Amino acid sequence: MTWCERITQGLQSRQQADAYRRRRAIIGGNGRCLRYRGRQYLNFSSNDYLGLARDPNIIAAWGRGASAHGVGSGGSGHVAGYSEVHQALEQRLAGWLGYERALLFNAGYAANQGLVAALVEKGDMVLADRLSHASLLEAALLSPGQLRRFHHNDPDSLRRLAQTECSGNRLAITEGIFSMDGDSAPLVDLQRGITDAGGWLLVDDAHGFGVVGEQGRGSAWRQGCHPDLLVVTFGKAAGVAGAAVLCAEPVAEYLLQYARHLIYSTAMPPAQACAINASLDAIIGGDELRAQLGRNIARFRTGAADLGYRLAPSASAIQPLLVGDNLRALELTESLRERGCWLTAIRPPTVPAGSARLRITLTAAHQSADIDKLLEALDAVRRPA
Ligand SMILES: *Cc1c(COP(=O)(O)O)cnc(C)c1O
Repeated sequence: MTWCERITQGLQSRQQADAYRRRRAIIGGNGRCLRYRGRQYLNFSSNDYLGLARDPNIIAAWGRGASAHGVGSGGSGHVAGYSEVHQALEQRLAGWLGYERALLFNAGYAANQGLVAALVEKGDMVLADRLSHASLLEAALLSPGQLRRFHHNDPDSLRRLAQTECSGNRLAITEGIFSMDGDSAPLVDLQRGITDAGGWLLVDDAHGFGVVGEQGRGSAWRQGCHPDLLVVTFGKAAGVAGAAVLCAEPVAEYLLQYARHLIYSTAMPPAQACAINASLDAIIGGDELRAQLGRNIARFRTGAADLGYRLAPSASAIQPLLVGDNLRALELTESLRERGCWLTAIRPPTVPAGSARLRITLTAAHQSADIDKLLEALDAVRRPA
């Protein structure tokens, strides 16, 4: 098959499966309301859980950072791109989250890839929750280790797999709060299961950081768990972009030697680190934002249950409504958009086959009237029983 034939066929197969993806040029996709083709919608698709992407203090910090340090970092952190600003942010994160070290990455995707690629060698076993984010599963697949998937949020399943023969080291991988399901992992039991087999636990807390735990320290903190490796990202609740790996001192030094995503990539702009630092202030002082988010989640869940919707077991800002069929999920998002509510259909391969869903995300920026408008729309589009 030639390149052109392969591409034509690949596009057709996505179209036939109602799984074709397209982007839309949206204005204000991080806000409470967004605009698309001249029309305004309530935004239920953003991961800006605390509404910080438009926070004036964070915007000002980014601006001041750019004035003081310029816009680009100038290079990899191993050359000239690492500054006092980066260092101060790493130290602050490490101290706040209870780790010896933090290393900044440009994205959660890069952090997961770089971490797993640097650590996992031939003979090792990577044990991942089967619903883990693509960046984690793909990192494990690309690694020379063997990938085994354990049942979702099932410590016994992890323990059984972890006890099987392995000549190297074992690394268990999970998320704090799952990106497509919104449920939380039982981190203490998972850690016990992997630690008893002599392995380490990696927790990717992209959706818990900033949102849960004391001052927003995340899922692990909330559960009293201290994973060997913790990944936090700054593109979701922090409202900016970037990520950090939290770990012990020797691990950080090891990553600085072997994590190619750090070594061969331009460091994040110092101004961005200034913005993340300001965002940390907002997160730490963000109890009222978290309380507002909690009220929105409760209002949505009560209302949707009253309408007869079967809710996922999610207490988080991610509230999936399972639809199953791809085309039906697309039709529903279209109908909801006609009613002024913007949300996204999530289809395979992002989620398992047959589990297409509407992924509703709630934020602290939503007002109770917004939630009511969403519920009204969901009532109107409900398939007659
Ligand atoms: C969004 C996400 C990532 C990727 O983080 P980026 O900073 O957006 O690259 C990684 N893991 C999980 C669980 C995510 O939801």
